[in-house]
Amino acid sequence: MNLVMNIDKRELLTDLSDLVRDDFPILRGDIRGQQLVYLDNAATTQKPLQVLDTIDRYYRQHNANVHRGVHTLSQEATDQFEEARRIVARYINASSESEIVFVRGCTEGVNLVASTYGRANIGKADEVLISAMEHHSNIVPWQMLCETVGARLRVIPMNEQGELLLDEYRSLLNDRTKIVALVHVSNSLGTVNPVKEVIEAAHERGIPVLLDGAQAMAHESVNVQELDVDFYTISGHKVFAPTGIGALYAKKNHLENMPPYHGGGEMIRSVTFEKTTYAEPPAKFEAGTPNISGAIALGAALSYVEKIGKERIAEWERELLRYGTERLSQVEGLKLIGTASRKASILSFTLDYAHSHDIGTILDGEGIAVRTGHHCTQPVMQFFGLSATTRASLALYNSKEDIDRLVEGLEKVKEIFA
Ligand code: PMP
Repeated sequence: MNLVMNIDKRELLTDLSDLVRDDFPILRGDIRGQQLVYLDNAATTQKPLQVLDTIDRYYRQHNANVHRGVHTLSQEATDQFEEARRIVARYINASSESEIVFVRGCTEGVNLVASTYGRANIGKADEVLISAMEHHSNIVPWQMLCETVGARLRVIPMNEQGELLLDEYRSLLNDRTKIVALVHVSNSLGTVNPVKEVIEAAHERGIPVLLDGAQAMAHESVNVQELDVDFYTISGHKVFAPTGIGALYAKKNHLENMPPYHGGGEMIRSVTFEKTTYAEPPAKFEAGTPNISGAIALGAALSYVEKIGKERIAEWERELLRYGTERLSQVEGLKLIGTASRKASILSFTLDYAHSHDIGTILDGEGIAVRTGHHCTQPVMQFFGLSATTRASLALYNSKEDIDRLVEGLEKVKEIFA
């Protein structure tokens, strides 16, 4: 019985890339005369027809500015924009769509929290706790804040597998810790952090937690109420939506108490030269004309993922990760960087006879797109004593054949360099 179920499941899994691939027109293309193998999903994902058509339809049929007009197009644009906010809230199980602020992406989300919540609540000699595996976008805004207010940035260490040291984390929490800001899934190591435990330990001391969800949204089921997380940043382009759109989830009480971020139109209740009063959240944090088509397309992208099924995608990616880890481990001279017990479908590696930029260039000649460099995590590279890795990051439309092509490409690298 079990065996039959497993076989059925595997058939279902094998189907997924076949099933969705045609939705992504770019994947049909050739690069340097070879069928494209796109393995750079942690940098940005490709966009399905459902998203492309939504953008096209929006500009052809509904384009107008939101929230201000009584005319029909403005109301249509506003309805679609606000519907997108409801979709984001549903996707991460926020208790209300008013807890969703549209921003440009994770970088802007973290900057918003550091500049508003941070400046209002973090002062001299206070501490901000981040981790050793943060993306620069969850380091630099906190460093800037610390420099401004005289606070101290502290770092949760990790082990050689790329796993957080939880005991060290607990001992770093103290009365001066005013926020913990942690990546949910590491973009350079693939580590899925034990965020529930991290949040519980911080909350026991009344410390709020921000999670950088850039890499988690397309691969993990995110439930902000279950996590009880205070702030969660979302990057649209990592989850099949366009660039330049993302969202910040924040608990209602935080949004109500935080000062605004940018000043301008849309975020006000009334303005006189003497005094301005602000709109209720989320409008309070959305000054100026927003990325309307981007937000609507983000809604379409998340609906697309929901339709396929988050658990089904996660299962397929687990299988790809298992297969990819197995195949890459057999490549001579290859070392995987990031071997945590809980990982997302990210395979970072070095080859002992070639530099990652050369690897990337040779693979590009074979039609294979991977990322090389420090992946905006220079402290991670410093920890491992490296200047760069090659990173293959997988998404739902990748297949085992894509991984086979990568391994063949690495054989070419060996022919040239070894
Ligand atoms: N955090 C992580 C872990 C990321 O991978 C990225 C993008 N590489 C970011 C933050 C920045 O996200 P965005 O591009 O949405 O600003």
